[in-house]
Amino acid sequence: MRPDILNPLFAPVNTLPGVGPRIAKAIEHCAGPLVVDLLWHLPSGLIDRRFSPTIAAAPAGVIVTLKVRVESHHKPAVRRLPYKVRCSDESGELTLVFFHAREKYLLENLPVGEIRVISGRTERYGDEIQLVHPDHIAPEDEIENILSVEPVYPLTAGLNLKPLSKAIQAALERTPELPEWCDPAYLARQDWPPWNTALLAAHHPDSEADLEANTKVRERLAYDELLANQMALALLRASLQRASGCETKGDGRLREIVRTGLPFTLTAGQLSAIEEIEADLMQPHRMLRLLQGDVGSGKTVVALFTMLIAVEAGAQAALMAPTELLARQHFATLEKLLAESGVTVALLTGRGKKSEREAVLASLAAGAIDIAVGTHALFQSGVEFSDLAVAVVDEQHRFGVHQRMTLAAKGKGVDVLVMTATPIPRTLMLTAYGDLQSSRLHEKPAGRAAVETRVLPINRLDEVIDGIQRAVEGGARVYWICPLVEESEAVDLAAVAERHAQFENIFAARVGLVHGRMKSDDKDAAMSAFAGGDLDVLVATTVIEVGIDVPDATIIVVEHAERFGLAQLHQLRGRVGRADKAGNCLLLYAPPLGETARARLEILRETDDGFRIAEEDLKLRGAGELLGTRQSGLPELRLADLARHGELLATARDDARLILERDPELKSERSQALRILLYLFERDAAARYLRSA
Ligand code: ADP
Ligand code: MG
Repeated sequence: MRPDILNPLFAPVNTLPGVGPRIAKAIEHCAGPLVVDLLWHLPSGLIDRRFSPTIAAAPAGVIVTLKVRVESHHKPAVRRLPYKVRCSDESGELTLVFFHAREKYLLENLPVGEIRVISGRTERYGDEIQLVHPDHIAPEDEIENILSVEPVYPLTAGLNLKPLSKAIQAALERTPELPEWCDPAYLARQDWPPWNTALLAAHHPDSEADLEANTKVRERLAYDELLANQMALALLRASLQRASGCETKGDGRLREIVRTGLPFTLTAGQLSAIEEIEADLMQPHRMLRLLQGDVGSGKTVVALFTMLIAVEAGAQAALMAPTELLARQHFATLEKLLAESGVTVALLTGRGKKSEREAVLASLAAGAIDIAVGTHALFQSGVEFSDLAVAVVDEQHRFGVHQRMTLAAKGKGVDVLVMTATPIPRTLMLTAYGDLQSSRLHEKPAGRAAVETRVLPINRLDEVIDGIQRAVEGGARVYWICPLVEESEAVDLAAVAERHAQFENIFAARVGLVHGRMKSDDKDAAMSAFAGGDLDVLVATTVIEVGIDVPDATIIVVEHAERFGLAQLHQLRGRVGRADKAGNCLLLYAPPLGETARARLEILRETDDGFRIAEEDLKLRGAGELLGTRQSGLPELRLADLARHGELLATARDDARLILERDPELKSERSQALRILLYLFERDAAARYLRSA
């Protein structure tokens, strides 16, 4: 249960004074539905109203706050002309200008002969100074309030600054004094203010510098959010570890058979990953490990050996792929590698004949199948294993682990290995998974040739096509990638089809087409024709991005490269240079290219290191955009910016670990404050893992 002290913050925004249904709706859209959401809606700018010159000394184009005497009102003869109010002080005169004015309002608020405080931006009109629609008109005694710095908040259509500012002010007034959850020594060392002070200060910036991410105030608030995030993950993990797993111990017999059959020797990275996994499987608690390896680093073999350990122990294993295409590819690979071993593999996807599917289901339940390969269909209800010990999830670059951790927490004692193609910056790893065990495949298998990357404007298309033609005559195989964006899918699909038609004129029957809207049988047919050498050119959307392995393909061309994420381009590039033949990657962009876009594509030219590419992309685009926060499964961060507060994240991780080590049930006084922190950042689910909750 949420601690009572937080209740005022978890009421809907329409409970705040002055927030009616219309404004509430706009605020919900802009910041969120609850009072607490307003606290996290930090200013993005400010208006300094402290400059208070005389009229004569007021320059044009600045924000001023003036004390003036109202002289006269001038109602326009026709309505489209502005209403004017003349004012003065001892130094001179100025005009207030109002379009579409409400006369009654102006006469009430600017009575002739009285002193008023006016604030707004000055404009020069001829040789006099005007204020068009001043922001503030107030009686003299309110001057102290107006002579201040006003925060400016991010707005969305239909919401003005004034009502939002008022609502935020009301939310701040309603904020209870909360106990300190940070370690006092750390707080002192960082010279950070208490939370309530920090929150108020963040909403009342004094200067532009106060809006920076690295102020003490903003760092403190960011740290709180990161600490909540890390505490939540640590709690989840602790509960996972309490859940019992099974001890799976293999005798190495099957691994030995498969190893001797491999056309290559395992890399040191593969060997040590397998060793780490083997050790995990032997533990009585459940394994949850991440295997990170750049595209082409050879994760599939590691998955296979992991599953073989289970089979050696007399149990079953499952490998889940993100797409049908990949599931089939994995199945084909495993079938080949397991040919001599006597291990039985089956494919289970959402499609296929009902009778075949039922036969597979029956064999799985009976234990006649050792390894099942499939899509998410593998874990749907109705699929029963006789004795599933290990599940390997091939996530590629998708972030499903967060959900999967929760999922695993529910299930029985199955050990889980999640594979992702590298580009997960360390900071993102931490926020998404916390201290998850992870193995990394750093090196590429030996004998891999480099991929040369070039960035070209699309107007050199003819040149590129000529080059491709020559390469194809020389025996090369080519991927040609066109973007497919959901919002413009129809247009994009037309572009892919058009490119395909154009190439049919050049390459005749030796060009194929693959996109997500095709029937999967047609897709598979085109893919295997390309893999088998019956096609020279494959025009495709990004369906080929995830893990497709055609070692003979040496050239990849990406159209509209500027529309892709860096990590995605890196994945695509990983489709070539997979064998000993040098690869070529051509990134075609539609000019003009903005500075950031150019910088991004340059990074790809400079490096082939997936980790670095991911870090750079994070810096240039921010976490949300990098992964598409919605699909990413990443917890949303409102105050912390991973590109700027990365170091705080590591501290929060250590802090969370230490807290749970010392006080696993969160019983101490500080722990009670931490419990409030968890609820403040809506990590309710994690808070429930507390046994004493
Ligand atoms: P990814 O990590 O992208 O899933 P794969 O597992 O598909 O990579 O492996 C890419 C290619 O490298 C495959 O053709 C695979 O057979 C090959 N491979 C894997 N391990 C090695 C190795 N140790 N030496 C040489 N080739 C390897
Ligand atoms: Mg793979």
